Amino acid sequence: MAQIIDGKKIAADVRAQVAAEVQRLVSENGLKPGLAVVLVGEDPASKVYVKNKAQQTVEVGMNSWEHRLPAETSEADVLALVDKLNNDPACHGILVQLPLPKHINSEKVLNSINPDKDVDGFHPVNVGRLWVGERALVPCTPTGSVILAKTVAPSLAGLNAVVIGRSNIVGKPVAALLLRENCTVTVAHSRTKDLAGVVKGADLVVAAVGIPEMVRGDWIKPGAIVIDVGINRITGPDGKGKLVGDVNYAECEKVAGAITPVPGGVGPMTIACLLRNAAQAAAMQNNLKSAFA
Ligand code: NAD
Repeated sequence: MAQIIDGKKIAADVRAQVAAEVQRLVSENGLKPGLAVVLVGEDPASKVYVKNKAQQTVEVGMNSWEHRLPAETSEADVLALVDKLNNDPACHGILVQLPLPKHINSEKVLNSINPDKDVDGFHPVNVGRLWVGERALVPCTPTGSVILAKTVAPSLAGLNAVVIGRSNIVGKPVAALLLRENCTVTVAHSRTKDLAGVVKGADLVVAAVGIPEMVRGDWIKPGAIVIDVGINRITGPDGKGKLVGDVNYAECEKVAGAITPVPGGVGPMTIACLLRNAAQAAAMQNNLKSAFA
Protein backbone atom coordinates (compact mmCIF):
# COMPACT_ATOMS: atom_id res chain seq x y z
CA MET A 1 0.00 0.00 0.00
CA ALA A 2 1.30 3.41 -0.96
CA GLN A 3 2.11 6.18 1.46
CA ILE A 4 -0.62 8.81 1.14
CA ILE A 5 0.76 12.29 0.54
CA ASP A 6 -1.41 14.60 2.64
CA GLY A 7 -1.78 17.77 0.56
CA LYS A 8 -4.04 19.42 3.12
CA LYS A 9 -1.40 19.17 5.84
CA ILE A 10 1.48 20.10 3.56
CA ALA A 11 -0.45 23.12 2.24
CA ALA A 12 -1.03 24.24 5.84
CA ASP A 13 2.74 23.93 6.42
CA VAL A 14 3.41 26.11 3.34
CA ARG A 15 0.90 28.72 4.55
CA ALA A 16 2.65 28.74 7.96
CA GLN A 17 5.99 29.34 6.19
CA VAL A 18 4.39 32.21 4.25
CA ALA A 19 2.94 33.72 7.44
CA ALA A 20 6.43 33.59 9.05
CA GLU A 21 7.97 35.20 5.96
CA VAL A 22 5.33 37.96 5.95
CA GLN A 23 6.00 38.63 9.62
CA ARG A 24 9.75 38.84 8.91
CA LEU A 25 9.24 41.27 6.00
CA VAL A 26 7.00 43.46 8.17
CA SER A 27 9.27 43.49 11.21
CA GLU A 28 12.65 43.74 9.44
CA ASN A 29 11.68 45.90 6.48
CA GLY A 30 8.28 47.45 7.22
CA LEU A 31 7.02 45.70 4.11
CA LYS A 32 3.53 44.20 4.13
CA PRO A 33 2.98 42.13 0.97
CA GLY A 34 -0.29 42.75 -0.86
CA LEU A 35 -2.19 40.66 -3.40
CA ALA A 36 -4.94 41.94 -5.72
CA VAL A 37 -7.39 39.56 -7.37
CA VAL A 38 -9.45 40.66 -10.36
CA LEU A 39 -12.70 38.83 -11.09
CA VAL A 40 -14.77 39.73 -14.13
CA GLY A 41 -18.28 38.27 -14.32
CA GLU A 42 -20.32 35.85 -12.29
CA ASP A 43 -18.74 32.40 -12.87
CA PRO A 44 -19.81 30.54 -9.68
CA ALA A 45 -16.64 28.41 -9.38
CA SER A 46 -14.44 31.50 -9.88
CA LYS A 47 -16.34 33.37 -7.17
CA VAL A 48 -15.60 30.55 -4.70
CA TYR A 49 -11.89 30.48 -5.67
CA VAL A 50 -11.58 34.25 -5.29
CA LYS A 51 -13.28 34.21 -1.89
CA ASN A 52 -10.95 31.43 -0.65
CA LYS A 53 -7.90 33.22 -2.02
CA ALA A 54 -8.83 36.49 -0.31
CA GLN A 55 -9.55 34.76 3.01
CA GLN A 56 -6.24 32.85 3.01
CA THR A 57 -4.32 35.98 1.94
CA VAL A 58 -5.57 37.81 5.02
CA GLU A 59 -4.87 34.77 7.23
CA VAL A 60 -1.15 34.82 6.37
CA GLY A 61 -0.99 38.53 7.24
CA MET A 62 -0.96 40.09 3.77
CA ASN A 63 -3.09 42.88 2.34
CA SER A 64 -5.83 41.56 0.07
CA TRP A 65 -7.85 43.47 -2.52
CA GLU A 66 -10.72 41.99 -4.50
CA HIS A 67 -11.77 43.80 -7.67
CA ARG A 68 -15.11 42.41 -8.82
CA LEU A 69 -16.20 43.76 -12.18
CA PRO A 70 -19.46 43.09 -14.02
CA ALA A 71 -19.43 40.58 -16.91
CA GLU A 72 -19.98 43.35 -19.48
CA THR A 73 -16.82 45.26 -18.44
CA SER A 74 -14.83 46.21 -21.55
CA GLU A 75 -11.36 44.85 -22.27
CA ALA A 76 -10.04 48.42 -22.12
CA ASP A 77 -11.39 48.85 -18.58
CA VAL A 78 -9.79 45.56 -17.43
CA LEU A 79 -6.48 46.65 -18.99
CA ALA A 80 -6.80 50.04 -17.25
CA LEU A 81 -7.30 48.33 -13.88
CA VAL A 82 -4.25 46.09 -14.44
CA ASP A 83 -2.24 49.18 -15.37
CA LYS A 84 -3.34 50.91 -12.15
CA LEU A 85 -2.32 47.85 -10.09
CA ASN A 86 0.99 47.59 -11.97
CA ASN A 87 1.75 51.13 -10.79
CA ASP A 88 0.56 50.73 -7.20
CA PRO A 89 3.61 50.14 -4.96
CA ALA A 90 1.46 48.60 -2.18
CA CYS A 91 0.24 45.87 -4.55
CA HIS A 92 2.95 43.24 -5.11
CA GLY A 93 0.90 40.51 -6.79
CA ILE A 94 -1.85 40.65 -9.40
CA LEU A 95 -4.04 37.67 -10.23
CA VAL A 96 -6.66 37.88 -12.97
CA GLN A 97 -9.09 35.03 -12.39
CA LEU A 98 -9.71 32.89 -15.48
CA PRO A 99 -11.85 32.29 -17.44
CA LEU A 100 -12.52 35.87 -18.57
CA PRO A 101 -15.74 36.63 -20.48
CA LYS A 102 -15.46 35.79 -24.21
CA HIS A 103 -15.25 39.41 -25.42
CA ILE A 104 -11.98 39.88 -23.49
CA ASN A 105 -8.68 38.62 -24.90
CA SER A 106 -7.19 36.69 -21.95
CA GLU A 107 -3.73 36.54 -23.45
CA LYS A 108 -3.65 40.30 -23.90
CA VAL A 109 -4.76 40.89 -20.30
CA LEU A 110 -2.32 38.36 -18.79
CA ASN A 111 0.54 39.74 -20.85
CA SER A 112 -0.23 43.26 -19.61
CA ILE A 113 0.57 42.28 -16.00
CA ASN A 114 4.01 43.46 -14.85
CA PRO A 115 6.01 40.16 -14.85
CA ASP A 116 7.38 40.99 -11.39
CA LYS A 117 3.78 41.05 -10.08
CA ASP A 118 2.62 38.02 -12.10
CA VAL A 119 1.91 35.67 -9.18
CA ASP A 120 0.32 33.09 -11.50
CA GLY A 121 3.62 32.83 -13.39
CA PHE A 122 1.86 32.73 -16.78
CA HIS A 123 3.57 35.77 -18.35
CA PRO A 124 6.00 34.77 -21.14
CA VAL A 125 8.80 36.59 -19.28
CA ASN A 126 8.32 34.30 -16.26
CA VAL A 127 8.01 31.23 -18.51
CA GLY A 128 11.35 32.20 -20.07
CA ARG A 129 12.98 32.91 -16.70
CA LEU A 130 11.89 29.49 -15.44
CA TRP A 131 13.31 27.63 -18.46
CA VAL A 132 16.65 29.48 -18.45
CA GLY A 133 16.98 29.05 -14.67
CA GLU A 134 16.59 32.68 -13.59
CA ARG A 135 14.70 33.79 -10.49
CA ALA A 136 11.07 33.57 -11.64
CA LEU A 137 7.51 33.57 -10.41
CA VAL A 138 6.51 29.96 -11.15
CA PRO A 139 2.93 28.71 -11.73
CA CYS A 140 1.31 27.62 -8.46
CA THR A 141 -0.10 24.12 -9.16
CA PRO A 142 3.20 22.89 -10.67
CA THR A 143 5.17 24.30 -7.71
CA GLY A 144 2.76 22.58 -5.32
CA SER A 145 3.06 19.27 -7.20
CA VAL A 146 6.86 19.29 -6.90
CA ILE A 147 6.75 20.27 -3.21
CA LEU A 148 4.48 17.25 -2.61
CA ALA A 149 6.85 14.88 -4.45
CA LYS A 150 9.79 16.20 -2.44
CA THR A 151 8.07 15.40 0.86
CA VAL A 152 8.56 11.70 0.08
CA ALA A 153 11.82 11.95 -1.93
CA PRO A 154 13.77 15.02 -0.79
CA SER A 155 16.14 14.60 -3.75
CA LEU A 156 14.47 13.88 -7.07
CA ALA A 157 17.84 13.87 -8.89
CA GLY A 158 18.21 11.11 -11.44
CA LEU A 159 14.61 9.93 -11.25
CA ASN A 160 12.79 9.11 -14.47
CA ALA A 161 9.82 11.47 -14.40
CA VAL A 162 6.87 11.21 -16.76
CA VAL A 163 4.53 14.21 -16.95
CA ILE A 164 1.24 13.39 -18.67
CA GLY A 165 -0.15 16.59 -20.21
CA ARG A 166 1.60 19.54 -21.86
CA SER A 167 -0.58 22.52 -20.97
CA ASN A 168 1.01 25.89 -20.29
CA ILE A 169 -0.50 26.03 -16.82
CA VAL A 170 0.46 22.56 -15.57
CA GLY A 171 2.33 20.09 -17.81
CA LYS A 172 5.04 22.34 -19.27
CA PRO A 173 5.95 24.17 -16.04
CA VAL A 174 5.98 20.87 -14.09
CA ALA A 175 8.41 19.52 -16.71
CA ALA A 176 10.63 22.61 -16.32
CA LEU A 177 10.63 22.31 -12.51
CA LEU A 178 11.47 18.59 -12.61
CA LEU A 179 14.30 19.26 -15.02
CA ARG A 180 15.57 21.86 -12.53
CA GLU A 181 15.41 19.08 -9.89
CA ASN A 182 17.68 16.98 -12.16
CA CYS A 183 15.05 14.44 -13.16
CA THR A 184 15.14 12.82 -16.59
CA VAL A 185 11.86 14.19 -17.88
CA THR A 186 9.47 12.80 -20.47
CA VAL A 187 6.41 14.86 -21.40
CA ALA A 188 3.60 12.61 -22.64
CA HIS A 189 0.45 13.95 -24.30
CA SER A 190 -2.56 13.08 -26.41
CA ARG A 191 -0.42 11.89 -29.35
CA THR A 192 2.01 9.80 -27.27
CA LYS A 193 2.28 6.20 -28.49
CA ASP A 194 2.03 3.43 -25.88
CA LEU A 195 1.32 5.79 -22.97
CA ALA A 196 1.02 2.84 -20.55
CA GLY A 197 4.51 1.64 -21.56
CA VAL A 198 5.97 5.14 -21.17
CA VAL A 199 4.43 5.57 -17.71
CA LYS A 200 5.66 2.11 -16.66
CA GLY A 201 9.26 3.39 -16.90
CA ALA A 202 8.61 6.25 -14.48
CA ASP A 203 9.89 6.60 -10.92
CA LEU A 204 7.71 9.71 -10.68
CA VAL A 205 4.42 10.24 -12.54
CA VAL A 206 2.62 13.58 -12.68
CA ALA A 207 -0.83 13.26 -14.27
CA ALA A 208 -2.39 16.49 -15.59
CA VAL A 209 -4.79 15.42 -18.30
CA GLY A 210 -8.39 16.08 -17.33
CA ILE A 211 -9.62 12.53 -18.04
CA PRO A 212 -11.16 10.85 -14.97
CA GLU A 213 -9.13 7.91 -13.63
CA MET A 214 -7.23 7.42 -16.88
CA VAL A 215 -3.97 6.17 -15.33
CA ARG A 216 -4.44 2.51 -14.40
CA GLY A 217 -2.72 0.46 -11.71
CA ASP A 218 -0.88 -1.78 -14.18
CA TRP A 219 0.78 1.32 -15.78
CA ILE A 220 2.63 2.09 -12.54
CA LYS A 221 6.10 0.86 -11.73
CA PRO A 222 6.08 -0.66 -8.22
CA GLY A 223 7.22 1.92 -5.67
CA ALA A 224 6.77 4.94 -8.00
CA ILE A 225 5.64 8.35 -6.71
CA VAL A 226 2.28 9.33 -8.24
CA ILE A 227 1.15 12.98 -8.21
CA ASP A 228 -2.41 13.40 -9.46
CA VAL A 229 -3.18 16.96 -10.59
CA GLY A 230 -6.55 16.09 -12.15
CA ILE A 231 -9.80 17.39 -10.70
CA ASN A 232 -12.79 15.84 -12.46
CA ARG A 233 -16.40 15.86 -11.32
CA ILE A 234 -18.16 12.58 -12.13
CA THR A 235 -21.38 10.87 -11.09
CA GLY A 236 -20.65 7.98 -8.72
CA PRO A 237 -22.49 4.61 -8.73
CA ASP A 238 -24.87 6.04 -6.09
CA GLY A 239 -25.92 8.79 -8.53
CA LYS A 240 -24.18 11.48 -6.47
CA GLY A 241 -21.49 13.81 -7.80
CA LYS A 242 -17.92 13.20 -6.67
CA LEU A 243 -14.42 14.44 -7.43
CA VAL A 244 -11.83 12.10 -8.90
CA GLY A 245 -8.37 12.64 -10.30
CA ASP A 246 -6.73 11.58 -13.55
CA VAL A 247 -5.39 8.51 -11.73
CA ASN A 248 -7.38 5.43 -10.78
CA TYR A 249 -6.58 5.80 -7.10
CA ALA A 250 -7.90 2.42 -5.90
CA GLU A 251 -5.71 0.55 -8.40
CA CYS A 252 -2.60 2.73 -8.24
CA GLU A 253 -2.30 3.00 -4.47
CA LYS A 254 -1.76 -0.78 -4.38
CA VAL A 255 1.34 -0.48 -6.58
CA ALA A 256 2.79 3.01 -5.98
CA GLY A 257 5.27 3.89 -3.24
CA ALA A 258 3.47 7.18 -2.55
CA ILE A 259 0.38 8.82 -4.02
CA THR A 260 -1.70 11.99 -3.71
CA PRO A 261 -5.45 11.60 -3.12
CA VAL A 262 -8.17 13.64 -4.87
CA PRO A 263 -9.47 15.67 -3.16
CA GLY A 264 -6.85 16.58 -0.55
CA GLY A 265 -3.69 16.21 -2.65
CA VAL A 266 -2.50 18.79 -5.17
CA GLY A 267 -5.68 20.91 -4.90
CA PRO A 268 -4.96 22.63 -1.56
CA MET A 269 -1.38 23.38 -2.66
CA THR A 270 -2.41 25.83 -5.38
CA ILE A 271 -3.55 28.70 -3.16
CA ALA A 272 -0.73 28.03 -0.66
CA CYS A 273 1.79 28.45 -3.51
CA LEU A 274 0.00 31.57 -4.75
CA LEU A 275 0.55 33.15 -1.32
CA ARG A 276 4.18 32.01 -1.45
CA ASN A 277 4.55 33.75 -4.81
CA ALA A 278 2.99 36.96 -3.49
CA ALA A 279 5.47 37.05 -0.57
CA GLN A 280 8.34 36.31 -2.99
CA ALA A 281 7.15 39.04 -5.38
CA ALA A 282 7.03 41.61 -2.56
CA ALA A 283 10.61 40.79 -1.53
CA MET A 284 11.88 40.81 -5.12
CA GLN A 285 10.28 44.19 -5.92
CA ASN A 286 12.07 45.68 -2.93
CA ASN A 287 15.43 44.04 -3.66
CA LEU A 288 15.21 41.98 -0.47
CA LYS A 289 16.12 38.37 0.05
CA SER A 290 13.18 35.98 -0.02
CA ALA A 291 12.67 32.72 1.86
CA PHE A 292 11.25 31.22 -1.32
CA ALA A 293 13.57 32.05 -4.24
P1 NAD B 1 -5.54 20.95 -20.47
O1 NAD B 1 -6.83 20.45 -21.03
O2 NAD B 1 -5.09 22.31 -20.77
O3 NAD B 1 -4.37 19.96 -20.91
C1 NAD B 1 -4.53 18.57 -20.86
C2 NAD B 1 -3.32 17.91 -21.46
O4 NAD B 1 -3.55 16.50 -21.45
C3 NAD B 1 -3.02 18.30 -22.90
O5 NAD B 1 -1.68 18.74 -22.98
C4 NAD B 1 -3.20 17.03 -23.70
O6 NAD B 1 -2.18 16.82 -24.67
C5 NAD B 1 -3.12 15.94 -22.66
N1 NAD B 1 -4.00 14.82 -23.00
C6 NAD B 1 -5.31 14.88 -23.39
N2 NAD B 1 -5.77 13.63 -23.64
C7 NAD B 1 -4.75 12.80 -23.41
C8 NAD B 1 -4.59 11.40 -23.51
N3 NAD B 1 -5.60 10.62 -23.88
N4 NAD B 1 -3.41 10.87 -23.20
C9 NAD B 1 -2.36 11.65 -22.81
N5 NAD B 1 -2.45 12.97 -22.70
C10 NAD B 1 -3.62 13.55 -22.99
O7 NAD B 1 -5.65 20.69 -18.89
P2 NAD B 1 -4.87 21.36 -17.67
O8 NAD B 1 -5.33 22.75 -17.49
O9 NAD B 1 -3.41 21.08 -17.78
O10 NAD B 1 -5.48 20.51 -16.45
C11 NAD B 1 -5.27 19.12 -16.35
C12 NAD B 1 -6.04 18.59 -15.15
O11 NAD B 1 -5.53 19.22 -13.98
C13 NAD B 1 -7.53 18.89 -15.15
O12 NAD B 1 -8.21 17.80 -14.54
C14 NAD B 1 -7.66 20.12 -14.29
O13 NAD B 1 -8.92 20.22 -13.66
C15 NAD B 1 -6.59 19.86 -13.28
N6 NAD B 1 -6.05 21.08 -12.66
C16 NAD B 1 -5.95 21.10 -11.31
C17 NAD B 1 -5.44 22.21 -10.66
C18 NAD B 1 -5.32 22.19 -9.16
O14 NAD B 1 -5.36 23.22 -8.52
N7 NAD B 1 -5.16 21.05 -8.54
C19 NAD B 1 -5.01 23.31 -11.39
C20 NAD B 1 -5.06 23.26 -12.78
C21 NAD B 1 -5.59 22.13 -13.40
